Amino acid sequence: MSKQTHAFQAEVAQLLHLVTHSLYSNQEIFLRELISNASDACDKLRFEALNNTGLYEDAPDLQVRLSFDKTAKTLTITDNGIGMTAQEAIDHLGTIAKSGTKDFVSKLSGDQKSDAQLIGQFGVGFYSGFIVADKITVETRRAGATPAEGVRWISGGTGDFEVETIELPKRGTSVILHLREEALDYANTWKLKEIVGKYSDHISLPILMAKEEWQDGELIEPNNEEGGRQPGGMVKTGEWETINKASALWTRPKKDITDEQYADFYKQISRDFEAPLTWTHNRVEGSTEYTQLLYIPSKAPQDLWNRDKKAGIKLYVKRVFIMDDAEALMPSYLRFVKGVVDSADLPLNVSRELLQESRDVKAIREGCTKRVLSMLEDLAKHDKEPEAQDGVTDVLSEEDNAQLGQYSKFYAEFGAVLKEGLGEDFGNQARLSKLLRFASSTHDTVSVSFADYKARMKEGQDAIYYITADTMAAAKNSPQLEVFKKKGIEVLLMTDRVDEWALNFVNEFDGTPLQSVAKGAFDLGKLQDEEEKKAAEDAAETFKPVLAKLKEALKDKAEDVRVTSRLVDSPACLVVTDDGMSMQLARMLKQAGQSAPEVKPVLEVNPEHALVKKLDGSVHFHDLAHILFDQALLAEGGLPADPAAYVKRVNALLS
Ligand code: ADP
Repeated sequence: MSKQTHAFQAEVAQLLHLVTHSLYSNQEIFLRELISNASDACDKLRFEALNNTGLYEDAPDLQVRLSFDKTAKTLTITDNGIGMTAQEAIDHLGTIAKSGTKDFVSKLSGDQKSDAQLIGQFGVGFYSGFIVADKITVETRRAGATPAEGVRWISGGTGDFEVETIELPKRGTSVILHLREEALDYANTWKLKEIVGKYSDHISLPILMAKEEWQDGELIEPNNEEGGRQPGGMVKTGEWETINKASALWTRPKKDITDEQYADFYKQISRDFEAPLTWTHNRVEGSTEYTQLLYIPSKAPQDLWNRDKKAGIKLYVKRVFIMDDAEALMPSYLRFVKGVVDSADLPLNVSRELLQESRDVKAIREGCTKRVLSMLEDLAKHDKEPEAQDGVTDVLSEEDNAQLGQYSKFYAEFGAVLKEGLGEDFGNQARLSKLLRFASSTHDTVSVSFADYKARMKEGQDAIYYITADTMAAAKNSPQLEVFKKKGIEVLLMTDRVDEWALNFVNEFDGTPLQSVAKGAFDLGKLQDEEEKKAAEDAAETFKPVLAKLKEALKDKAEDVRVTSRLVDSPACLVVTDDGMSMQLARMLKQAGQSAPEVKPVLEVNPEHALVKKLDGSVHFHDLAHILFDQALLAEGGLPADPAAYVKRVNALLS
């Protein structure tokens, strides 16, 4: 194939522009990205070679080599991994295949700092080379292909790239970075060693550099180009030394690993800039043997809400990398967890399909789930400062102190996803319920657990009250809360989209039923005294004729109309029947374009309210009835079916 020019896909061009314009503050990540690609390429080769050892040719030792040439101003990263065919080079280095990354590119703001943060979460991969290079040459040959099928790919990182076939004796890939003037200091052994130590120490593949030789206090530059240029090639001069630890971190004993090393490893596998919130590292023995190293990130990724998002678990079998994103190893509601599982039992040629069915995998998944839950329980336990007892507060140990507020941090990022587990993982539902936190009518921060709530329940209160709403403001000010506020009864405020759905699966906590204050008939049980009950009954009696008229006027909108003692300041509110879908959930489904049953709510009116008192005998009865209904709908974040008619009615009365 002679030289061909191809244009980059539009998203790539956009990404490239961003990479070269906004990643200065984190330049050095390019090396981590390219080494990570090299390591992936070796993993892929090892995997394919399981069924075809011929792919190793005469070089079974997989490795990455770094070399530079100060005169030519190049830095080269060479691997003897799987390599690429010409078509693969065109596809993989010219387009963005992953839809997640595409979405991400469209979200970029142009603001350096926040974009850099975003990039950290996705990893720009290969294109990060253009942070330090104004031209990149890739020379690559697919394992198993003939030397004549080598490929040279060249681009200046703007609109297009060139591809041609060349002769390459060895399989694998060399990425040759033509360094920008201001990036020339990367052509330096110490600098490269330092960066590798920081980001790529635990890549389980050796990373080699030519040994520098000194003579009479003078550095003799090794002739790197000779060896470095040829993928996987042997160097003709000089010796090579391994500059990373090249041992899989998770196989080392816990006591030999520092927090910093754990955090670095996390950054490597997650491509996140930020340190993880916490992690757990265990060797599990028994009928299935495996090692797990699981991390909880500090920040939620952009695409957390994509339920198709792949789990962040890498599967290894006896230290051989098998696959990324092993979704079978973690339930979907824990899709934010990142880490490594290394199994001693699974066959090396395990496929995704096989994973779904394997009993070992099921056991690993259960084990990992339990581990993550205990890790969260532990964080939750240490989240709050101990309350003073008899005026004495315990002094926290340094370790406990460090954990203070960590669970709240976790919950703010991932709490809503965790709730999906209530409907997905019945076996762990009780544990998950204990991990939930809410704001309440008496506590503004999302910190109230069901247990906290129960401990504060009033004498005679026999339910955990909650309300779901679209926003915190709507929840807090909702009319249904009025009597609870008056009586000083706490109500949990739920404003996550998933709440309504998730709570469907939880009817009680520790023997106490959960009760929505916007569902069913109003009944405070023992919390209402006889006098109040009597007054309510009397009001219902006197209001009978008005209720009948209201029912008739609103028969298309309301299932029923009744008086209530739920309200204090508001004239009316809407509730749904006990087993009905809430108005909020119905709205949400409709917005999401899904079919929702037509919910006809019950209109409840406050017999003590001036407006309601005026109804009887009013010449505007019909308009007032509709205004009452529409206002009740507005108060809970809904919209009147005919907003213009509503405005007309109100204006008619106003004038
Ligand atoms: P990612 O690694 O996240 O998939 P990149 O942009 O870094 O994204 O790379 C795109 C693709 O190019 C990779 O998925 C891989 O198929 C191919 N690739 C990159 N570097 C190498 C390499 N050193 N050897 C073989 N293939 C590579």
